[in-house]
Amino acid sequence: MANTNLESALANGISKGIREGVGGAIADGLVGLATVATLAAIVFNISPSIKPTSTEPDPDWNRGLKRGDPVAGYTVGSDVGYRIHPISGERAFHAGVDIAAPTGTPLFAVGLPGVERVRVDCGNEPGRAGIFATISGANPSNPSQTFLAMHLSVCNPGEYQPGESFGKVGSTGGSTGPHLHWESRPDGTKESVIPPEYWSLYQVITGKLPPRLSSNLSTGFDAAYQWTLGKEGGCSDHPADRGGRTYKGIIRSVAQRHGYSDPCTMPESTVRRIYETEYWNPARCGEWQTAQMQLVCFDTAVNFGVGGWQMFSTQGRRRDGHRYPALPREERAAAVAIAQWRLEFRDFRVREAPDQRVFLRGWRNRDRALLEKVK
Ligand SMILES: [Zn+2]
Repeated sequence: MANTNLESALANGISKGIREGVGGAIADGLVGLATVATLAAIVFNISPSIKPTSTEPDPDWNRGLKRGDPVAGYTVGSDVGYRIHPISGERAFHAGVDIAAPTGTPLFAVGLPGVERVRVDCGNEPGRAGIFATISGANPSNPSQTFLAMHLSVCNPGEYQPGESFGKVGSTGGSTGPHLHWESRPDGTKESVIPPEYWSLYQVITGKLPPRLSSNLSTGFDAAYQWTLGKEGGCSDHPADRGGRTYKGIIRSVAQRHGYSDPCTMPESTVRRIYETEYWNPARCGEWQTAQMQLVCFDTAVNFGVGGWQMFSTQGRRRDGHRYPALPREERAAAVAIAQWRLEFRDFRVREAPDQRVFLRGWRNRDRALLEKVK
């Protein structure tokens, strides 16, 4: 099955934005698409029966946050490093990450498993941190580590259990708008700052530690690659396949970019590299929290092109730009919804381009297998 299937559907006039394969404004161009209403119905009536399975740590808990990372429905807008300060206009070191959140958004004490109480101290630095909280005792393997939350509207000092609310987002101090500035200081000093650990920002926003990604699926490129590779046929040269000669779903033009004029002669190491650099990375599948969404992302990017994945995934974004599936359980539900929509999209595709009907059975088998895998 060629990965140009959707690209050629798009060439029929669905959306210039998708053809160019850039995110962001894609949804606007899709309003006329007949299946959007169907998808909206599917995605926004997510199944309430899907729940986090466990609260055990997963390997990504400790990764340092950077700009653009999605965390619990928010996006990290500014990361740790030198930048031009938005108020002073001077180059200065930014010691934490920022997320835009409305004033009054509650903030919760953080603490890793085994921590019963943390201490919250409050201070005020007008023109700088504003009202800020220092949280200590959150990391049992490093008692000197502190976390700082700045620009708050409310800070209540005291002893807290992880998950209890100690304050609220605001815009005090040197701030251009309501946001949370979140810092991690491994030895408690300003000099020791590191990009805050994923778990800490997740917990200060939601009050919970991130759920384990999945009980039965592992995450990351290799897990998705193994599944998708197993679903791709070998060498194919079907006359109706608009990608032309295809090997493991990789069309000739892509193979050519990687030095093979005939895709069917590529060794698996090249297939793997192409899957990673042409699909996994540009579709940003690794940014999802759950194995389910990572797999749906990757397999859809391989099957429909990266632009096709963006079309499907944009439907999961709210108008205000927050990624819709904020929590892992919602993300898993959205993965199921997108897999379901893919199945329905095939009928649309065949109506638009009847010569593609010859592929319908294979497409459906693959989509059903994906749906089963992520359910
Ligand atoms: Zn900041």
